Amino acid sequence: MPEKDYYKILGVSKDAGEEEIKKAYRKLAHKYHPDVNKGDAGAEEKFKEIKEAYDVLSDPQKRDRYDRFGTADEQFAGFGGFGGGRQGGFEGFSGMGFEDIFDAFFGGGFRQGRSQGPRRGNDLRYDLEITLEEAYHGVNKEVVIPRTENCSDCGGSGARKGSSPEVCSVCNGAGQEQTVRNTAYGRFVNVQTCRSCRGAGKVIRDPCPKCRGEGQVVQERRLDIKIPAGFDTGMRLKVSGEGEAGYRGGPQGDLFVYVTVRKHKLFKRDGSNLIYELPVSFTQLTLGSDVEIPTMEEETVLHIPEGTQPDQVFRLKGKGMPQVRGFGKGDLKVRLKPQVPKRLNKEQKEALAEFARLSGEKISDDGKGFVDRVREAFGGGK
Ligand SMILES: [Zn+2]
Ligand SMILES: [Zn+2]
Repeated sequence: MPEKDYYKILGVSKDAGEEEIKKAYRKLAHKYHPDVNKGDAGAEEKFKEIKEAYDVLSDPQKRDRYDRFGTADEQFAGFGGFGGGRQGGFEGFSGMGFEDIFDAFFGGGFRQGRSQGPRRGNDLRYDLEITLEEAYHGVNKEVVIPRTENCSDCGGSGARKGSSPEVCSVCNGAGQEQTVRNTAYGRFVNVQTCRSCRGAGKVIRDPCPKCRGEGQVVQERRLDIKIPAGFDTGMRLKVSGEGEAGYRGGPQGDLFVYVTVRKHKLFKRDGSNLIYELPVSFTQLTLGSDVEIPTMEEETVLHIPEGTQPDQVFRLKGKGMPQVRGFGKGDLKVRLKPQVPKRLNKEQKEALAEFARLSGEKISDDGKGFVDRVREAFGGGK
């Protein structure tokens, strides 16, 4: 839920058009302007709030983000994880900073003002969770993504069906205004985005009712995403052209699917290797044993030789995860987890103490617990 309700602040409804928002803003800005309310801190705060609300709601992209994510912050529209991540660079962005990526995506022009000319659509991020089994075999997932698409009624022009946008009479379609100032220091030419058409070069006299003249509407889209076998947490898939619609004829953005592999109840994952912790008893290690080991396919038998030490790791070749790129599979590493018995009956304790005695073990005397009871069992004590 949005932290601040910008619609409420401006006193307009959620489907208010550009003109209505502008009008509401002007009225409130007049009322709470700091020049009119000198020294009134409350009014100043209110004025700031009104301005913030207007900044967002008057910008179609920001407003759209705000409507969907409750914030106008770009981070939320899909740029959250770029440049970071352990497995970053799956499609070649590793080592690039945030700014570089913006430049790569937008040719460096993205941040210049609030031009309303053609603009590439936003990239979208989708976080997808899959199971280890799905990561092992690869999986097709149907995802539903809310995103902006070109309005079907006006074909993205923003003008009512049957009409079309007109060339802006202020800038003659250039999208920019020049103001020339002659001063004592020389002649200054100030070029700024045309205020009448906000850089589009065109104005819509009769806006399309379906998209409120924005040319775009938010729609849910179903996509079939194929996650290849071996995918791991932190990897992402780029689905070209499945981001948001371009603005005013700009190209479509891309969709990035960020994958998280859910924790598995048996296996830990280390890249293409899997780790399995096998509980073993002292006797199994000492005398040797054949133990059944689960794998991602069928069970297999691991031979533990006589006299195996607890820190030994067994490696089952090719029983790990598939490599995303390249061939073959990683290994399944079996780590031993020796279990020390907790509740022994008298007979078991005697047998162990006897074993210790036969091994020539010296039992230290701390005067407590097990050792004492062993002594008693043997009628000992000195
Ligand atoms: Zn439309
Ligand atoms: Zn203009």
